[in-house]
Amino acid sequence: MSEETREPLIKGSSPLVNQTQVPDEDVVLNISLRPKKLVEFVGHKDIVDNLKISIQAAKQRKEPMEHVLLSGPPGLGKTSLSHIIAHEMGAKITATSGPAIERAGDLIGILTNLEQGDILFIDEIHRLSKVVEEFLYPAMESFQIDFVIDKGPYAKTIKFNLKPFTLVGATTRTGLLAAPLRGRFGIFYNLDFYKIEELAKIIKHSAKVLSIEIEDDAAEEIARRARGTPRIANRLLKRVRDYAQVAKINKINLAVAQKSLDDLGIDKAGLDDLDRKVLRLILESYKGGPVGVETLAASLNEEVDTIEDAVEPFLLNAGYLRRTSRGRTATKLAFEHFGLKYVKQEDLF
Ligand code: ADP
Repeated sequence: MSEETREPLIKGSSPLVNQTQVPDEDVVLNISLRPKKLVEFVGHKDIVDNLKISIQAAKQRKEPMEHVLLSGPPGLGKTSLSHIIAHEMGAKITATSGPAIERAGDLIGILTNLEQGDILFIDEIHRLSKVVEEFLYPAMESFQIDFVIDKGPYAKTIKFNLKPFTLVGATTRTGLLAAPLRGRFGIFYNLDFYKIEELAKIIKHSAKVLSIEIEDDAAEEIARRARGTPRIANRLLKRVRDYAQVAKINKINLAVAQKSLDDLGIDKAGLDDLDRKVLRLILESYKGGPVGVETLAASLNEEVDTIEDAVEPFLLNAGYLRRTSRGRTATKLAFEHFGLKYVKQEDLF
């Protein structure tokens, strides 16, 4: 295995800072599909160009980079970018997540272990508790943390100096981030869904890393059905590979890609089972909407977060759903996708 395909070393052995942030499907037999350098990161040229300058400038000044906030739906490359920043800065990375840091003491432990220039990656940063978040403010702003010892009139604040570091926060929902926290990031990037040609490029690269042979049109077919998401593209590639292997086809072609994706329940537009359930519910039980997300989640026995983070953004982006003040409504495209006659929402009232 080449050095290129290995996961970067992640500092720390406590359960708070381990590799659980790396989704299983990204690592096969220790071979990672995660891009490691900026040149390997496909798409988002504006972000890559911008980051290149920030990294170069920080390196010239021999200072850590400013804190970076990455937002966007799951699987679009936030964790990958944080590792890339560490790699390009020649820095070590400590990875953790908002829900893993339960108490301020947990955060203090992590912060005091950071060395000069280290990257601290906090995934799902919008899920940090208020108390923990407030400890983060002085740490981000002036690389200090304030301990309060004793209580009442004897209470004393002791300042503890930290080594300058870069915080990279990732969130699926910028809207849930408290304004004071958002304001302490100097660099902010929003990752959007990928174009089909970008996903096809990622699939072909992943196929090479995994020693899978694939025709160009088969890679494009997988890309078309990957919901604009690199993580899904890689996952589908692996499932299609299984089908091809069992069918004794050495090089994945369009026919085997189409057949296996159909069998997996991914339709021609790339909608999966849950996407279709959500749309069908709105179309059939609520005549196209509007319907609130809580109602949708309860009817489908799903978490509201799953609908809001993993389902809705793609359906909105691809034009199947619209968000209104009274809830979600299905678009003409959604009606047509299921062969239903379009009912204009205004006609219902
Ligand atoms: P997030 O943190 O936003 O959920 P990740 O960074 O974990 O997303 O990305 C999931 C996987 O998708 C990565 O391991 C990698 O294989 C692939 N990936 C994501 N973005 C890119 C990209 N721009 N270029 C190549 N592969 C990518």
